[in-house]
Amino acid sequence: MIAANFDYESPRTLNEALNLLSSREDAKILAGGHSLLPAMKLRLAQPALLVDLGRISGLSYIRESGDKIVIGAMTTHAEVNASQLLRQASPLLALTATQIGDTQVRNRGTLGGSLAQAHPAADYPAPVLALDAEIVAQSRSGERIIPATEFFLGMFSTALRNDEILTEVRVPKTASEKVTYKKFHHPASGYAVVGVAVRLKMSASRIDSAAVAITGVSDIAYRATAVENALRGNTAAAFADAANQAANGKELIGDVYASATYRRHLVTVIARRALEEAASLR
Ligand SMILES: Cc1cc2nc3c(=O)[nH]c(=O)nc-3n(C[C@H](O)[C@H](O)[C@H](O)COP(=O)(O)OP(=O)(O)OC[C@H]3O[C@@H](n4cnc5c(N)ncnc54)[C@H](O)[C@@H]3O)c2cc1C
Repeated sequence: MIAANFDYESPRTLNEALNLLSSREDAKILAGGHSLLPAMKLRLAQPALLVDLGRISGLSYIRESGDKIVIGAMTTHAEVNASQLLRQASPLLALTATQIGDTQVRNRGTLGGSLAQAHPAADYPAPVLALDAEIVAQSRSGERIIPATEFFLGMFSTALRNDEILTEVRVPKTASEKVTYKKFHHPASGYAVVGVAVRLKMSASRIDSAAVAITGVSDIAYRATAVENALRGNTAAAFADAANQAANGKELIGDVYASATYRRHLVTVIARRALEEAASLR
């Protein structure tokens, strides 16, 4: 299908973009376009104005800032995947990016666009939750920092206001931890039927703390607190029992790809495998 008519602006500065965004109620940000343009072609989205972030310099970067790594919103999945800094200091996002879609999607899609889209089967929501990332939102009235745990409100719904642009994601350094992202992907799109991000702090074989976040199975990605609690103070012997609690208290999605019953089983399997994989890392 062909998208409905829309105006298009490609500002050169963030301030200009913020002014344009506030100038019309039905304006929308365009980042990589890999979610927004298909939605427009299907007329599921009909913005009257697209504000393209592509020509604003300074929104695409990965750098160290104190005890964090900070990543610009327009950084593509391919750049996240290829970052040596991330791979050494905080590898979970890079390990996730390599599993997103295909080469074309990774070359165009952006970290900020993916988080703002809040697709229930998107990959990044799991690692940003497991990392307790901070999401930076900018509006004409200033900057605010949204904890990842408060960012995802529902399917395709986030804490971002209409006049805000997601500008940066801040993640902690995790070099002393064991992290991984394991996914059962849809064979056509690559989206997660189940995706599990794991972060373990271990002393020898003892688990001091665990962060486990899950995407793909529910309306929004979530921290699997029952799994985390079952792991704390335990060893790898607790993995299977803990993983069995991965969907505790959650209403699971059932769709043409996978029934809710199948997802409920699959998430326990992928969670156990993710825990085993993380623990086996040196
Ligand atoms: C064939 C295909 C396969 C895919 N497979 C996967 C997959 O396996 N895993 C996965 O996670 N994703 C997958 N995706 C989605 C892909 O990762 C997209 O890149 C992502 O969902 C959106 O990023 P984008 O930069 O393209 O954003 P856009 O499509 O440009 O924007 C998406 C939404 O976010 C808003 N937005 C964008 N940037 C900002 C910002 N900085 N601040 C505020 N709002 C903003 C837009 O207004 C829009 O509403 C796939 C997409 C396709 C087409």
